[in-house]
Amino acid sequence: MASSRSNGKLPKFQKVLVVSAHPDDPDFGAGGSIARLVDSGAEVVYVIVTDGSQGGEDPTQKDAELVAIREKEQRAAARVLGVKKVEFLGYKDGHLAPDLKLRRDIVRMIRKHKPELVITHIPGRVLDAPMGGSHPDHLAVGEATMAAVYPDSRNPRAFRSLLKQGFEPHEVKEVWIPFWTSGDYLVDITPTLEKKIEALRKHKSQIAKPGREWDFEKFMRKRHRDVGKRGGYQYAESFKRITV
Ligand SMILES: [Zn+2]
Repeated sequence: MASSRSNGKLPKFQKVLVVSAHPDDPDFGAGGSIARLVDSGAEVVYVIVTDGSQGGEDPTQKDAELVAIREKEQRAAARVLGVKKVEFLGYKDGHLAPDLKLRRDIVRMIRKHKPELVITHIPGRVLDAPMGGSHPDHLAVGEATMAAVYPDSRNPRAFRSLLKQGFEPHEVKEVWIPFWTSGDYLVDITPTLEKKIEALRKHKSQIAKPGREWDFEKFMRKRHRDVGKRGGYQYAESFKRITV
């Protein structure tokens, strides 16, 4: 499969919406590219669908406490990358289905922020990639977001209650899906890799879980070096790039 490369230059976008299941997903999946989009003048907004309340190892910790920690971590990481705003939809972590309610809530976000580019999860299970990428919430958000992009957000006859609330139809131009094992669009993140690592460090509750510590920095550098080799970059992120 031929890879297309960003050739150090990114296409120009005014507005970018990143729709993710959990706090930390946008930064792990696309943080380097998000920082590059911000540097090129794009206004980036995150939509975090769940409250992140299952992202821990201690069943006695109060949900509200973990939710507050994760929101704070996500806002701090977004700030590092220059992301303008973070919207939390507040769905319960681990309980997502790609149903009409979720679709409508994502359509509302698309119509509110009017992005040309949407970044989201892979909408189906990938059996030859590590299981972590196919978290059921990721699959649900990927599928609901694809359906929200086409046809719902552009179709004035879809979710007419939104029209009454003032959310006019909007056409998204592109969708990028982080897909590091076999994406075919590479973004050179050599200039922003350090910023991405710094953003990931803000997710302390996730990278330093007691008993599950991992050297995320070594892991991510290796991942991006491996992806970069496919396009002749020092470090890269890899996507499926879909024109709507
Ligand atoms: Zn996740």
